[in-house]
Amino acid sequence: LFQFGSIQQYHLDLNDGTTSCEEAVRHYLKKINEHSALNAFTGVYEAEAIEQAVALDRKRKSGATTGPLHGVVIALKDVICYKDHPVTAASSILKGFRSVYSATAVQRLLDAEAIIIGHTNCDEFAMGSTNENSSYGPVLNSIDTGRVPGGSSGGSAVAVQAGLCMVSLGSDTGGSVRQPADFCGIIGLKPTYGKISRYGLIAYASSFDQIGIFGTSIDDVRVTLEVMAGPDGFDSTAVAAPAITNATSTPRRIAYFRQALENSSLDPEIRSSFFELISKLKTDGYEVEAIDFDLFDFIVPTYYILTTAEASSNLSRFDGIRYGARRDYREKSENSFYFSNRSSGFGKEVKRRIMLGTFVLSAGYYDAYFTKAQQVRKLLVDQTRLIFTQYDAILLPNSPTTAFPLGEKLTDPVSMYLADIFTVFANLTGIPGISLPLFWHSNGMPYGVQIMTNHFCEVSLLHLSERWMQQFKTFGNEKPQPSTPKVAF
Ligand code: GLN
Repeated sequence: LFQFGSIQQYHLDLNDGTTSCEEAVRHYLKKINEHSALNAFTGVYEAEAIEQAVALDRKRKSGATTGPLHGVVIALKDVICYKDHPVTAASSILKGFRSVYSATAVQRLLDAEAIIIGHTNCDEFAMGSTNENSSYGPVLNSIDTGRVPGGSSGGSAVAVQAGLCMVSLGSDTGGSVRQPADFCGIIGLKPTYGKISRYGLIAYASSFDQIGIFGTSIDDVRVTLEVMAGPDGFDSTAVAAPAITNATSTPRRIAYFRQALENSSLDPEIRSSFFELISKLKTDGYEVEAIDFDLFDFIVPTYYILTTAEASSNLSRFDGIRYGARRDYREKSENSFYFSNRSSGFGKEVKRRIMLGTFVLSAGYYDAYFTKAQQVRKLLVDQTRLIFTQYDAILLPNSPTTAFPLGEKLTDPVSMYLADIFTVFANLTGIPGISLPLFWHSNGMPYGVQIMTNHFCEVSLLHLSERWMQQFKTFGNEKPQPSTPKVAF
C-alpha cells in the first residue's frame, strides 16, 4: 500500500525499490476518484500522469540522474497554465479554453521531473475566501464537509489535505494560499512578490498576485519553491533574491500587531492560543513584542480598492473576441456584443469586483479612492521596512475564525472581505508569509499561525517554520472534540 510521508522519504523508497512513480500516481488517481464528492479537481490527467510515471520509473532504473522533484505528484490551481490542457479560472467565460503555453513555474516543475496530476477547483478568477464563487460549485473541507475549505485556492488545499496529491500550487493575491491552508490544517506558503514568475498565471491583481505552495512538510514546500523560484525572461518582476536579505542566523526578534490581536472579529480561542504560543516562544528565548500599527484598519479597504481596480483592467480581455466564450454572433452593436458575452460569462462576485474597480478608477473618483489607496500602500511599505530594521519576523493569525459553515458568508460579501484582515497585509507590502497548522479548535477544526519575514527572506521564514512545527505543533496529536476528523493526518 502506497503511503506518502515526505518527498525525501518518497525518493528513498523509489531508490530502494519499495515503491514506484507509477504506484504513486495510481494511488492518487484512486484517491481522487474516491473523494470526488469533495469537488477538489476540475480536471484529472489520468492517462498522461501514468505515462509520465512509467517513463520516469524507466529512466530512474536505467541509472540516469533524476530531477529534484522526480515523480512528485502535483496538482495545479485552475488559474495556472499547463500547455495543451484546459484552464478556466473556474469561470464559465473560459470553458473550453486550452493553454497554448505552460506557466514558467509549471515548466520548471516538469523540468524537475514532477508529474502534474490535474487542475484544482477555486473561486472564479481567484476572487473569494470560500471557494463558493466557482462555476464548478463549492469544494468541501474534508475534515467537516459542512464547512468551506477556504479560498480562493480551496481545491488545491483540499487536494493536499485529503491526500489526493503530494503538494499543490495555488495563487495568493490576498491570502488565497495561507487562509485555505489554515482552514484545512496544512502548510501554505506565499513567497515574496517576485520570487516566482507570474508568467502563465491568469492575473487577478498583478501587483499582488503570487504563486504559492501547499504541502504537509516544510521540506516539501522548500524544494518545490527552490525549483520554481528565480528570474524569468517572461516576467520582469521575477528576480533573483538579493543575497544580503537571505539571513542564515536564527531569527529571534518577533513582532505582532497589537491592533490585530485586539480586533473584535478574532475568535477568543484563536486569540488565547496565539498568546500561549507567544509565552512558549519567550520561554524558548525569543524576544516577542506587541507593536502599534496605526494603519491596521486601512489594510482591508486599501486592498479591496487596489485589487478591484487592477482586476477591472486585467479582466477586460475576456470579451468574447480576445479571450472568452462568444455567446451571440448576431448582436447588433459592439457594446451589446460585449455586454452579452460578459454578462453570461462572469459570475456575480467577478462582476461586483469589475464594477467596483471601474468605479474607483473613474475620472470623478480616481483621486479620492485609487490615488489615496496607493498612498496608503506606500505608507504600509515604508512602515514594514522600518519594522524589519528592528524585528526578524511578524506573527499574526491567518484568519479571525476557523473554516466557515458552507453558505454562511455568501450573502454578505463585506463580511467575507473583512475576514481577509490578517492576510492581505503581506500582499500589499510584497513580503512572504506562511501559514503553519499548529492548533485544533474546540469546534473540531484546525487553525494555525502566520509568520511573515522581510522581502526575499524565505530562508529564515522556512527555518523558523521548521523549528516551530517541531516544537509547538499540537495539531494532529489530540483528537478534536466533539467532531472527529474524517481524514487521518
Ligand atoms: N480573499 C481574497 C479576495 O477575495 C484573496 C483572494 C486571493 O488571494 N486570490 O480577494
